[in-house]
Amino acid sequence: MLQCISGIISTKYPFYGFLMMGLLLSCRSEIYFEGAYCIKNVDVIDPLEGLKKGVNVVVKGNKILRIGKVGELKLSPKNVIIEGKDKYLIPGLWDSHVHFYFDQQLALHMPELFLSNGITSVRDTGGAFHYMDSIRQNALMHPKTHPRVKIAGPLIDGNFNVYDGSVLPELSIRTRDVRESIAETEKLVVKGVDFLKAYEMLSPEQFEAIAAIAAREKLRLAGHVPLSMEITHAISLGLNSLEHIKNLELEAVKNSDSMLLARRDMLHNKSLLSGRQLRANIHRAQKQFAVDHIAPYTYQNILDTIKKYNSYQVPTLSIYKVPIYKIFREPFWRKSFELLPKTTRDQWEKSLLGSNDKINQAQKAFSDWIQKTTGAMAKAEIPLMAGTDTPLGYLTPGFSLHYELELMVESGLTELQALTTATLQPAKYFRMEDSLGLVKKDYIADLILLNENPLEEIARTRDIYAVIKDGNFIDKARLDQLQKEISEGLSVSALDQ
Ligand SMILES: [Zn+2]
Repeated sequence: MLQCISGIISTKYPFYGFLMMGLLLSCRSEIYFEGAYCIKNVDVIDPLEGLKKGVNVVVKGNKILRIGKVGELKLSPKNVIIEGKDKYLIPGLWDSHVHFYFDQQLALHMPELFLSNGITSVRDTGGAFHYMDSIRQNALMHPKTHPRVKIAGPLIDGNFNVYDGSVLPELSIRTRDVRESIAETEKLVVKGVDFLKAYEMLSPEQFEAIAAIAAREKLRLAGHVPLSMEITHAISLGLNSLEHIKNLELEAVKNSDSMLLARRDMLHNKSLLSGRQLRANIHRAQKQFAVDHIAPYTYQNILDTIKKYNSYQVPTLSIYKVPIYKIFREPFWRKSFELLPKTTRDQWEKSLLGSNDKINQAQKAFSDWIQKTTGAMAKAEIPLMAGTDTPLGYLTPGFSLHYELELMVESGLTELQALTTATLQPAKYFRMEDSLGLVKKDYIADLILLNENPLEEIARTRDIYAVIKDGNFIDKARLDQLQKEISEGLSVSALDQ
């Protein structure tokens, strides 16, 4: 109607027409959003579009209701306004490789540790199902105060399982043959895991059976390359995410066939070693040799296969670099221990008392090679996801994800690519890219408001002004208070109060 009137006026009296249209537009465009809040004049960093300056973002309920340039989306002063000038809005971050089950005392505080560091979603890559399910359910019940948790349940391992609960925690299920692998995988499917994780001691036949179930159920299959196989084979069967780039190097050498035969021979395990010892022996016999003898053509062929199958790579650079380079001895890392609950802090400090600054050169070469490979993968446009393996290796939950992003950039990714590994890529991995991972209209409002531009320096993702979880605006004062409560051991689930 309005358009119609202004159309008539503009034909008969062009000048008045323009004037009136201008008036109408300016009145119309000052909008009041009831029951919402508006982040005004903020610089948005979108994984797809990069930096967009001067944007108004309206959040209502748990969604981004509207988003528009300051000049185009005009806000009525009646709105609840959060001044966004000189601040940067990015999607909430994911840590795509965590283990709640590893330290159950610390796990009570992990949701708050993640959230107070801007981690709004995590992917748990191994723990007993009933335990992990309770953590996931708790997160689902409190979406405004807990990070989203996606779970694999236990690792599905072979006859000599590595994490069998003797020395290492019981993160895995032992499956002695194909029949048991199928039965256990089917059970996890029925229980409702978000993805599956296959482990190193499986036979090719067991792995293939698990991969077939994952494909049938349209579940992602994460894992390590089983030592009885080579990476290109595992990926062609459906290993669509690889953790730690584990065992890639074993195929990247000229004589990979004979190395595979030697591994299979060792896997017969005539001396009946534990899975943990057996795996360690095989790694000792082959890993370093392989990294020292990478054949460029074979290596490139592996990257091409990963790319062809669009297999997500979670290099977990921190779990290599922090212990190997002894980053945990550096003051900035030690300071992060202050974020931990006291019992964990004391435990970590105590176990680090005897550490020296001697770096194992072979391990260092391996860590450097993993970073180089991560850079090569980024160049080849292989999808990467940022994950840490926290709380293993003295990696403080939440804090360490920001370090992982720094290592991504150190490995050759641009700052925007690094951000994408912790935002859009995991959303795509879980097929949630239509609702999560971008700063976009109708998307879930999981966001971080930063004081500085992380595209200039990635470490600035640490400089948090506020975290928005499921639309809930949690300001810096509340985040600081939360961290204080955790470190003083005052809160078990402070955000719920
Ligand atoms: Zn792990």
